[in-house]
Amino acid sequence: MKLTPYWLDTAEPSGDYRRTPVPEKVDVAIIGAGFTGLSAALEFAKQGTTVAVLDRHTVGWGASGRNGGMATTGLAISFNTAVKRYGDARAVDMFREYNDAIDTIEKLVRDNGINCDFQRFGKLSLAFHPSHYEGMLKSQEQLADLADYKVTTIPKSEIHSEIGSDFYQGAMLDPLGAGLHVGKFVHGLAGAAADAGAIICENAAVTELRKVSGTAHDVHTTRGVIRASQVLVATSGYTGAVTPWLQRRVIPVGSFIIVTEPLPEDVVNRILPNRRQASDSKLLTYYFRITPDNRLLFGGRARFALSSPDSDVKSGKILRKAMLELFPYLSNVKVDYTWGGLVDISMDQMVHAGVHDGVFYSLCYSGHGVQMAAHMGKNMVRYMGGDKSANVWEDLKNPPVPGHFGPPWFLPFIGGAAKIIDRIK
Ligand SMILES: Cc1cc2nc3c(=O)[nH]c(=O)nc-3n(C[C@H](O)[C@H](O)[C@H](O)COP(=O)(O)OP(=O)(O)OC[C@H]3O[C@@H](n4cnc5c(N)ncnc54)[C@H](O)[C@@H]3O)c2cc1C
Repeated sequence: MKLTPYWLDTAEPSGDYRRTPVPEKVDVAIIGAGFTGLSAALEFAKQGTTVAVLDRHTVGWGASGRNGGMATTGLAISFNTAVKRYGDARAVDMFREYNDAIDTIEKLVRDNGINCDFQRFGKLSLAFHPSHYEGMLKSQEQLADLADYKVTTIPKSEIHSEIGSDFYQGAMLDPLGAGLHVGKFVHGLAGAAADAGAIICENAAVTELRKVSGTAHDVHTTRGVIRASQVLVATSGYTGAVTPWLQRRVIPVGSFIIVTEPLPEDVVNRILPNRRQASDSKLLTYYFRITPDNRLLFGGRARFALSSPDSDVKSGKILRKAMLELFPYLSNVKVDYTWGGLVDISMDQMVHAGVHDGVFYSLCYSGHGVQMAAHMGKNMVRYMGGDKSANVWEDLKNPPVPGHFGPPWFLPFIGGAAKIIDRIK
């Protein structure tokens, strides 16, 4: 069994950027070579701005190369909750931003000729508890009334039309959700950005940001110092001590994935006959889909632990058990891959983007960042140029997580609480 992400194992890097010289001066320095950083770099470079992307590791090493490959509609919170929290009009705007984000990926793929199996398979939200299905019915009604937006609900009695499992109490289907091969997408973005003139520096950890004035900083890296007129932090769940203000606002939660061996067509047709991008409504959510080469990818917050080889193996075993609980007929199927990564969750599970003390940032996609990270990277270019309308998340309150100053010591407690809530709800 491989401990590398399936996506990175089955995609060709666009280049080797480990020795690209770190430039002395740029207009914009970006920390993080994932979807946010690379989509911003591509846009900046196309506009003729000098831009360098710095990553401690390699392109796509972070969550962008480790996720489920689902670019789905809807916020990290339910529409019903968004309406209660932000009011009708704002909830609709925020919901639509996620649809725009999927369109952004589709356009990036088309305009830059990125071959990454992007397809609108549809998003299947699965109700773990009857009350969750009632919430879906409510969301369906509100989406129709407030946003003139149509989703379908599927009662338990008809659920086999969408999934070969009796585990769930009903489902909601949104046809616009998409799936893609995120390894090919992230490498494609890097290639397009490099072709447009962006300087990508891998193996270049940023160790310090020293303010010069306003938004200008000297960016200290393990391979040299860059003077940048603007800095964009795009480090999601890997945000560290270089930006302590942000670190205190991001809860890095481990999420883990297993991928089976390729499956026969009839088995795939039984699991997910319409190849939907599926996720359930538990707090410790399961998400799953079929890969382009007919494997089942099955993910979840198996344990509230950070990712490490040991932790990934343990989580893989837990996930296999969960997969068999849903699909007992896969008991003889081999698991070929298991890995983990960090999801950047905020206190309110909303995106946070803006500028703090002269440093720009966009993060906290809260498990819904495949589409939103690529979208926000592009939008941050306009925002950093002074167009406030490009950042719909700017006014959201973003308090620090109480007691969070470094490694997230509190995760096992949150995990324990979530398990209990899932059991009783
Ligand atoms: C297991 C898993 C499953 C997921 N599934 C889905 C899904 O199916 N759908 C969905 O919408 N979202 C999903 N997500 C979330 C999504 O992948 C992320 O929100 C998104 O990829 C974030 O992209 P990013 O570019 O902001 O950050 P990342 O891709 O995480 O990139 C951050 C980069 O910053 C670098 N970095 C950090 N600190 C420094 C430093 N000091 N110097 C230099 N470099 C630094 C890191 O090396 C890393 O490469 C999942 C996440 C995980 C972990």
